[in-house]
Amino acid sequence: MNHIKVMDESLANLIAAGEVVERPLSVIKELVENSIDAQASKIIIELKDSGISQIIVSDNGIGVNKEDIPLMCKRHATSKISNNIDLVNITTLGFRGEALASISAVSKVKITSSVDGLNTYQYSNIEDSIIKVAGNQGTSVEVNNLFYNTPVRFKHLSHPNYELSLITNLVKQVSLIYPNISFSIINNDKPVYSTVGNNNPLDVLTSMYGSNVSKEFSHITTNSGDFTIDAYIAHPIITRASKKDIIISVNHRLIKNIKLEQAIIDGYKGYLHTNQYPIVYLNIDLDPSLVDVNIHPTKQQIKISFLNDLNNTISNMFHNELTTLNFIPEYSLNQEEVITNNQEVVSEVKFDKAQTTFDFKQVKSNETNNWQLPVFSFIGNLYQTYLLFQNEEGLYLLDQHAAQERINYEKFMELFANKDFIYQQLMIPITINLSNEEGTLFYPHYQEMEQVGIKLDALSECVYQIKAIDQFYQRCQNLDNDLLQMIRLVTNNHQLNLAELYEDVAIMMACKSSIKAHQYLDRLDVDSLLTQLNECVNPFTCPHGRPIINKISKYEIEKLFKRNN
Ligand code: ADP
Ligand code: MG
Repeated sequence: MNHIKVMDESLANLIAAGEVVERPLSVIKELVENSIDAQASKIIIELKDSGISQIIVSDNGIGVNKEDIPLMCKRHATSKISNNIDLVNITTLGFRGEALASISAVSKVKITSSVDGLNTYQYSNIEDSIIKVAGNQGTSVEVNNLFYNTPVRFKHLSHPNYELSLITNLVKQVSLIYPNISFSIINNDKPVYSTVGNNNPLDVLTSMYGSNVSKEFSHITTNSGDFTIDAYIAHPIITRASKKDIIISVNHRLIKNIKLEQAIIDGYKGYLHTNQYPIVYLNIDLDPSLVDVNIHPTKQQIKISFLNDLNNTISNMFHNELTTLNFIPEYSLNQEEVITNNQEVVSEVKFDKAQTTFDFKQVKSNETNNWQLPVFSFIGNLYQTYLLFQNEEGLYLLDQHAAQERINYEKFMELFANKDFIYQQLMIPITINLSNEEGTLFYPHYQEMEQVGIKLDALSECVYQIKAIDQFYQRCQNLDNDLLQMIRLVTNNHQLNLAELYEDVAIMMACKSSIKAHQYLDRLDVDSLLTQLNECVNPFTCPHGRPIINKISKYEIEKLFKRNN
């Protein structure tokens, strides 16, 4: 065996770069963190080919002295900590002193910096030289030809569009955590994203998601002595199919933590379906000594003391806030003059979702613990699809099919939870034939269909006979097809997750067994529909998340007839 040798610095840097620098995104994350640590109020990210050819991050921060500039690219060189007491009290985003060393191990770096706005110096890692140049207060780090000397890494980069989407996503999140800093991304001379830096998180949310979404956020805070939680939470009518818009920071450091994510999702319980996720931004401020950020080189994973307390607080504060939201979208009518073909001037009414969606609170009934619909009286049917109601506050339109879907969905979910099925034997058993592939996947689970009220016999892996079904399924018009669809829900997932099966079957059956549009409902039908809807946990959205009820306020109607002054 060879003798043991201490590695030379450039080899050590190259190895460290393997962990820290994976793609343009990682370079940008480190450079932006450095600019934030340097107290910049403006950070500009300029890219060529999504950062694959060139990245320049410029800031107006405190800058670096001439003699310190060459040290920036040395490994374990940092101005942020100097002893082990500092390490348990980290208040900066960087502290390991290895980012610039790692980046300059795999690219051609130029750093330009000025501490006074008068004298500016530029260092190049390739020439290892420093020269005086013209420039402004702050620092600009230029990274060229990423992975020029590690071709394997280079080959693993994805399509520039994908690299750019990763970068934009990260910068959006960081800009939300630092609303006081103005960020901009420019790729191949085209502006991609920017924020104003006016310290208003709602303005950043508008830059990120547009104003239609950002107006649906509520801001909540709580302070427990040990920690302060500050959150922007989106109304549950807006959902995402992944957790990517759950943004969490601890002491304004962007982190990933499955337990905190789960606490947020738990807070939304009853409002979101399986596989639906909220849009949330949550910051937790706590004493830095209670957080260990030094457990991973990219500093995204952290350890937090008293995580359980935190989780409970988060779930509760979210749930409490959600109970105060209004779930009936309210519309304002904007009148516009329109010239028709025969030059006649008519008024056209444009429906706009009002800015004030959350204007009145739901009444929560103490007995049932459900949200109740407002008290209103039935005034008629529209297109045999919508039911019209009125009260002093306005006119309400209720979608009869969506309402029935919600009622049936909740009945199914309750049935699956309690399992008090009332089985009905089928006079003529239904036979279901599956393909070989489906059969192999379904066979291990066929007995579990009893969990959703269906008793099956297996004649082989591919042939099943349905013996008995819960009485609820009697309403299905095309039972064998529906049952086949349920079986496919199991085989498509390749595994049986009962919670998901309940949800999927409930949504599917709710839709199939509901009254359809174009079916006339009389006053008695309407009364019964409203009573059942009021027994629902959530009488405001159908299981697919569409609104059941919409409102136009009396004020808006009076405005239409110019009677409001
Ligand atoms: P770390 O951030 O962990 O200290 P880095 O390698 O990222 O390590 O940076 C090394 C040092 O370079 C920092 O400690 C800081 O002193 C200096 N530095 C880096 N970027 C900037 C910047 N944009 N403005 C001012 N100083 C910077
Ligand atoms: Mg750093």
